Amino acid sequence: LSSYLSVKEAQQKILSAFNVKPVEFVALEQSYRRVLAQDIIASVNLPPFDNSSMDGFAVRTEDVKFATQDSPVTLQVVADIPAGISPQLTIQPGQAARIMTGAQMPKGADAVVPVEYTDASQDPNSRLPEQVRILHAPRAGEYVRPAGQDVQIGQTVLTAGRKLSPQDIGLLASLGITPVPVYQKARVALLTTGDELIQPDQPLTPGKIRDSNSYTIAAMIEMSDAIPIRLGNAPDDPQIIQKYLDIAVAQKVDLILTSAGVSVGTYDFVRTIIQQHGHLEFWRVNMRPGKPIAFGAYKGIPVIGLPGNPVSSFVGFMVFVQPVLQKMVGISQERHSLLRVRLAEPVESDGRETYFRCSISIQNGILTATLAGHQGSANLAGLTRANALLIIPAGVKSLPAGAELEAWPITSDFD
Ligand code: AMP
Ligand code: MG
Repeated sequence: LSSYLSVKEAQQKILSAFNVKPVEFVALEQSYRRVLAQDIIASVNLPPFDNSSMDGFAVRTEDVKFATQDSPVTLQVVADIPAGISPQLTIQPGQAARIMTGAQMPKGADAVVPVEYTDASQDPNSRLPEQVRILHAPRAGEYVRPAGQDVQIGQTVLTAGRKLSPQDIGLLASLGITPVPVYQKARVALLTTGDELIQPDQPLTPGKIRDSNSYTIAAMIEMSDAIPIRLGNAPDDPQIIQKYLDIAVAQKVDLILTSAGVSVGTYDFVRTIIQQHGHLEFWRVNMRPGKPIAFGAYKGIPVIGLPGNPVSSFVGFMVFVQPVLQKMVGISQERHSLLRVRLAEPVESDGRETYFRCSISIQNGILTATLAGHQGSANLAGLTRANALLIIPAGVKSLPAGAELEAWPITSDFD
């Protein structure tokens, strides 16, 4: 086993072969989940001007400081200020302006009295009254949202490397940032191989299985915010496999992913093709499932050869491919958010770094992991019943119930 790379060594070798993609500009509408490529510095205040946070009357607090329910203060209403206009007048002593939520405060006024604290009608169709009785003494600034309360000019509001959320996009819109600088998406070619594979819409015939990896892995590429380029399924024929790989090279993809054919079987050609037409960096990692993971380059394009077994290729993608796709869009490679969990049952491993499918639940307030289904690396249904991968470190062969371990959630989008 000592000739095998550790998971960490393999991850580092792979990661070091990739760079961050160039920047492109996309419309706000296209920016959800894209990764910001520049820090965003506000060039306006938010809000841009002092404005009312209520429908009511803009007043001078000085005028109404003794106003109460029982002894109201009467003011002359000199203006009506709807949202969207910029009032030019100045409120003089003894005056008020009717003002709507979001409307700019007139000069002179320093507070808003909500309509509920006046004798004015709350009917939205009511005419502008000539006078208003104020029933409450506001503090200076009450119900006023001052310019720059949320964001000030010059402030860095979002930093590069952030995957844009809906609320981030709203903030960019408020600041007038469009188009948005983001990292280009990585383009990832996917080739499945295997004589035994038939497509899901075809009847199952003796000795064949349906190709699931094309579908799982393409979806994982999308989940990692990259663009899958499906090359199709090649039979176990070196010439045909090469023909497909050449299509990926012609398309100048960032990465070629292959499925199956990297082990020591007689018909495992992917690895030998990489060896002959590029270079093979390694093809065995001290992990389970997923020991046969090949990494190298084919005609200058990096290739990661994932194992054929569906669970192995899933885990291989999580451990080796997803970090690369994140690196290419400028997301820094901290370790994923792992949970500390307690084992509900004893587990046995073989000393390789092992990723068991498990189900995590809270029991007596403690995150507890139970193994999910048969752990065989071909068993996708077991994987669908799991909500996390339980990580048994290299060198560990058995653990009692109650032991603490790390688990990697797999049910929500990776990030
Ligand atoms: P191999 O790496 O070619 O030895 O394949 C390992 C196992 O994965 C075999 O049982 C294959 O039948 C299976 N396998 C290979 N490719 C796929 C695929 N695309 N979908 C589902 N299973 C696959
Ligand atoms: Mg095969």
